[in-house]
Amino acid sequence: MTTVNTSITLKKGDVLKHTFLKVLPGTGAIELARKYFPPNVEYHDALEIASALIDGHFEGVDDPKVRRCAHCGYYYRDITKNNSSITCCKQCASGKDIVLKAWRREVRKVGKVRRLTWLDLHYASSYKGESFEYPFWSSDWHMFEYDRKRKVYSFGDDFEQYVAQQKRKAEIGGKRKTPERIDYDGYNAPRNIHVKLGGHVGCGKVTVIKQSREKIEAELLARYGAKKLQQERVRAQMAALGRYKI
Ligand SMILES: [Zn+2]
Repeated sequence: MTTVNTSITLKKGDVLKHTFLKVLPGTGAIELARKYFPPNVEYHDALEIASALIDGHFEGVDDPKVRRCAHCGYYYRDITKNNSSITCCKQCASGKDIVLKAWRREVRKVGKVRRLTWLDLHYASSYKGESFEYPFWSSDWHMFEYDRKRKVYSFGDDFEQYVAQQKRKAEIGGKRKTPERIDYDGYNAPRNIHVKLGGHVGCGKVTVIKQSREKIEAELLARYGAKKLQQERVRAQMAALGRYKI
């Protein structure tokens, strides 16, 4: 991996182009400007004074302690002992750091290819680097494929079994996994394993949540209606054969 040198040293009086006179003047800049406005100044006079201050046409601009703030870009007077500050206040200092950080990130990103995620493979969210306002699935197939791979619901599955599974999950609280039957050592039937804990053999408290196929069917029928349910069944059968379009 090659690392790009992104270290940057701002000299006194240097201003970041990105924020130059585009952000509000910082505390230090206001402090300096305040001295140049006489009390009860007229509005138009104040505008002239302000523009002169911004352009650097004011008395005392040659002072070695007076310079532009690196972030807000307005003139301020350095109050540090060794006359080494580049920003007028704390807010401007952190603002400058944020801009530089973003710039560093941009520079390091150049030429690097972002690893595609699962969604990128199935979802059209940008074209030639421009992101869409309304992203969409690349196609019907992509939509179903994304769900299938993520084990949400596989078309062709037993629908009642799937609903029962989801209900079980919801009742348990969505935290515990539903028990799976695993075939160990080539035995067809799973074997019960008794664990001895301090001489006491037994099982924990088990609550069985079970609903009959007929009951689930009746619920689905009531919720979606016979026509919609039939449509979905046909769709699932077709999808099981690899045909996703109706
Ligand atoms: Zn500033």
